[in-house]
Amino acid sequence: MKVQDLAKEIGKNVKEFIRFLSEMGVKTKSGSTRLDDTIVAEIRALFKGETPQDKGKVASFSWDAPTIKIQQLISESKVLIGDLMRVALTKGLLVNVNSEIPLDIARELVAGFNVTIESSAIETRSTLKDSMNEIKAGEVANDSAALITRPPVITIMGHVDHGKTLLLDTIRQTNVVEGEAGGITQHIGAYQVEIHGRKLTFLDTPGHAAFTALRARGAQVTDIVILVVAADEGIRPQTVEAIDHARAANVPILVAINKMDKPEANPEKVKQELSVHDLLAEDWGGTTVMLPISAKKREGIKELLEMIVLMADMQDLKASLTLPAKAVVIESHLSRQRGPVATVLIKSGTLRVGDHFVIDGDYGKVRAMHNDLGKDIAEATPGAPVEILGISSVPSPGSILEVMKEEREAKKIAEQRKIALNSNKHRAMSLESLSQHITEGNLKPLNLVVKADVNGSLEAIVASVNELKTGNVHLQIIHYATGDVNENDVMLAIASQAIVICFNVGVNAEARRLADNEAVSIRHYRIIYEILDDINKSIKGLYTPEYEEVKTGVIEVRQLFKFSKVGVIAGSYVTEGKVQRNSIAVITRAGTDIYKGKIASLKRFKEDVKEVVQGFECGVVMDAFPNLQEKDIITVFTTQEKHNS
Ligand code: GDP
Repeated sequence: MKVQDLAKEIGKNVKEFIRFLSEMGVKTKSGSTRLDDTIVAEIRALFKGETPQDKGKVASFSWDAPTIKIQQLISESKVLIGDLMRVALTKGLLVNVNSEIPLDIARELVAGFNVTIESSAIETRSTLKDSMNEIKAGEVANDSAALITRPPVITIMGHVDHGKTLLLDTIRQTNVVEGEAGGITQHIGAYQVEIHGRKLTFLDTPGHAAFTALRARGAQVTDIVILVVAADEGIRPQTVEAIDHARAANVPILVAINKMDKPEANPEKVKQELSVHDLLAEDWGGTTVMLPISAKKREGIKELLEMIVLMADMQDLKASLTLPAKAVVIESHLSRQRGPVATVLIKSGTLRVGDHFVIDGDYGKVRAMHNDLGKDIAEATPGAPVEILGISSVPSPGSILEVMKEEREAKKIAEQRKIALNSNKHRAMSLESLSQHITEGNLKPLNLVVKADVNGSLEAIVASVNELKTGNVHLQIIHYATGDVNENDVMLAIASQAIVICFNVGVNAEARRLADNEAVSIRHYRIIYEILDDINKSIKGLYTPEYEEVKTGVIEVRQLFKFSKVGVIAGSYVTEGKVQRNSIAVITRAGTDIYKGKIASLKRFKEDVKEVVQGFECGVVMDAFPNLQEKDIITVFTTQEKHNS
């Protein structure tokens, strides 16, 4: 019998019916695929209200909680798992063994098997019909029936050359999602593998830089970090960075001691070194799982994946299938043929082709979607990474995609977001702002990233900061290391709203640029006592910064223009540095300083501008000083917080 005929017989839409069949594990290509007689019989039985065979089920059991997990329901009722799942599906409930459902729905599910549930628990009012209606309407379903256990998202971190990339490849090659083997893998930023029927999602960009960059934008997607440590080398600086970055994000760490095939492998030494950083192996009396593996020889991979499943179960990762989808952009680029392309990871809900959505200040419609095997798909569920087309511009990683009911709504919300995005600058932490919060009675934690020139001073700083009496303020050093401040340090500071303390070290150029853009506070010190003093004052709400004037540029007045409305505009030339509106300016005439005030307006041609740089002409109006003259020299200053360097 053909799929379409059976669909008609039971009164179902063919497309929906094909989906239902695939969820039951029956693969069909189209409506004209022929179905096995036994399957036809089983489906007829299901849809005509006949119960599947009852094997070993009980007549009743008692359950004294308002909800029950499907797994518990199966073990209590002794109904076969496949039978129960099929009934759930025919009733429109998308659940798996870990889903928790209200008791009255559980009753309806097992009623067909003549099982009753007795209970003294106060039950919630949900009915299966309600849940089904909510699921159909795609509306907010608060009941737990709509929650599924989603795949965990894993990031691999560790020092360079310790085997992160090879481990990612090995996992992918050995555990492609069942039935998909042979598919051509596409690198879309993440992939899924399967172990014992459970899906796991791996982010394809290893390392803590990408991980923290996403976090700095407010998106935390990783549930578990695998820390790869080469058994022959032991922990290295980036191993420590990775530990600190994972910890600052509160993500559990699973250690993979790699390269166990090497003769010089020494896992005990690795465990000992990790213990110094508060990662204590289970066989050392701690709680951190550390597994020996060889990415090269493909050994220990299965155990590693099984452990991830266990850790994921402990976190009880749930997501709704029915809420309007939300997803995080994890990668994006502009394709010449296809336009903006983004890989998103579904956080909740089901994303479908045709959905209207908002990302940051843009809106769009999902034109096409495909998975990590390059397969076109029509919908994606929580935990799945998918590449989508149909966005109007390239979104930044970390942006959130949100599905809207219709285009009009998406457009309206995108416009509102655009305005909000422009006015809502990142709120970085500084000693001054902390001090102000404390004075206002707002308790905020103070996170520090400490970089120093040598280990001796680093240890002294860490020890003395840890000894500070901080009252109610939670003071924490989230990362410390020797060496200049790098981009990762600043990224971590952004993600964790931390202040960077430099002790006799510099800041590299990328880090400086990022810190300036995001207004991250980087403070330089040469005396440990001053660090403690500043922190002490700020946590008592007493910190007041000292300001100093810093020269930014020099202008020379070349020609005066008189206007009746604005007065005199001094046509000038920037001979050095740059000049900004509202800067402090000292006017020097014939070698003598004659006035100090503010630059009230700055023009390029007729336009008001904020800044003009060396080599360009500009028009200057001074605040309350009308008689500028040709050949006057204006030296420009800005004020900035004084650093103790
Ligand atoms: P990444 O920088 O952490 O991504 O490290 P790679 O995955 O690129 O691996 C660095 C080098 O170590 C490569 O030459 C790998 O072939 C090698 N390698 C990785 N895992 C193993 C392993 O389990 N055993 C051995 N012997 N070599 C490995």
